[in-house]
Amino acid sequence: MKQRKENFPFFKNHPGVVYLDSAATTQKPQQMIDALIHFYSVTNAPLHRGIYKLAEEVTEQFEKTRAQVAAFINAAHASEIIFTGGATAAVNMVAQGWGGACLQEGDEVVVTQLEHHSNFVPWQRICTQKKALLRIIPVTEEGVLDLSSLDSLITIKTKMVAITHVSNALGTVVDLSPIISRARGVGARILVDGCQAVPYQPVDVQNLDCDFYVFSGHKMLGPTGVGVLYARQEAHTEFMPAFAGGGTVFQVTEEKTTFLKPPRCYEAGTPPVAQVIALSAAIAYLQSLGMHKVTQYVSALTQKTVQGLLALPHIRILGPVEQLQKEGHLVSFVVKGMHAHDVSAYLDQFNICVRAGHHCVQPLAKRLSYDASVRASFYVYTTDNDIELLLEALANLGT
Ligand code: PMP
Repeated sequence: MKQRKENFPFFKNHPGVVYLDSAATTQKPQQMIDALIHFYSVTNAPLHRGIYKLAEEVTEQFEKTRAQVAAFINAAHASEIIFTGGATAAVNMVAQGWGGACLQEGDEVVVTQLEHHSNFVPWQRICTQKKALLRIIPVTEEGVLDLSSLDSLITIKTKMVAITHVSNALGTVVDLSPIISRARGVGARILVDGCQAVPYQPVDVQNLDCDFYVFSGHKMLGPTGVGVLYARQEAHTEFMPAFAGGGTVFQVTEEKTTFLKPPRCYEAGTPPVAQVIALSAAIAYLQSLGMHKVTQYVSALTQKTVQGLLALPHIRILGPVEQLQKEGHLVSFVVKGMHAHDVSAYLDQFNICVRAGHHCVQPLAKRLSYDASVRASFYVYTTDNDIELLLEALANLGT
């Protein structure tokens, strides 16, 4: 992995840059960029429509990617993979398409205090629309879920449990199994936000036993504008297409419309064809590295960062410090007496790019009483030297 930066043109164009903002968006390998360029300069033709060879090739590549994604997360059927504009779009599709059809007044939806706004606001909104109740699993001071009241939070009134796999703000890896088994026990549907999991660890949706799983291409070496919604076959009958129109229909008369079978009924309009095909190259790149190796590599960088920061008395790490030393891909922290934005601006003077702010988790920031934190996040191209430069710059802040 050490030579990995060479595969990423961004680093050739910015040789001095220490990019520690991969949880927001990753840099891109040459292979993925080549796939995008190849699509637009060679392959480009309409999807699912043309009866000529070139158009059929596009359809074949697109559908092959669907099967590749299914295998990547161990979905049972390719038809369970729906391409979307991103994870946020995917959650909204489920909240409106499933929630719109299935939620009734008095029902309950359970989320957690760790959720990114993208897996919080869509549920809050559909609950308001349906007069359903949004209930929230709290976190401890350490930033892990407090499951002591799980049985009273998830009850027979619960129709959906929407939960993150890994926190984008603190790096907490959630143990999903007790929550999912409780949700299954009461007959609720389960959606998992895997934006911060799929890029960093092998994910098996059948083993997790969830109904919906979402993630974004741009956080896993792929292009922007593409995301994945896994929707388990058993949930399809309850999941209405949130968008209707071209591409989704079997027959339209002036009186009524019949829809295509999943997944086509969920992919209204022209899908992000080029991005899907380029996502295939990004996944192939990750598969060539091996997801277990990716986990190990990024965890070691996280451990090194945590240990370095623990030695700096002016820094306080947010989140589960012990867990982060074993597994993780990011570290959130505050510098005593200095606003996170100022820390980020200071690090920028050394070409070190980190994220500073509330990280789209305002309820969590309120719970843990911080306005803003600094977040350093790592990926396959991050090096030990990057971490050393970060630690050195932060050490100098305390002198
Ligand atoms: N959930 C989590 C945990 C995330 O980290 C993000 C991106 N920051 C999202 C959802 C939203 O992803 P996107 O903006 O790609 O739709």
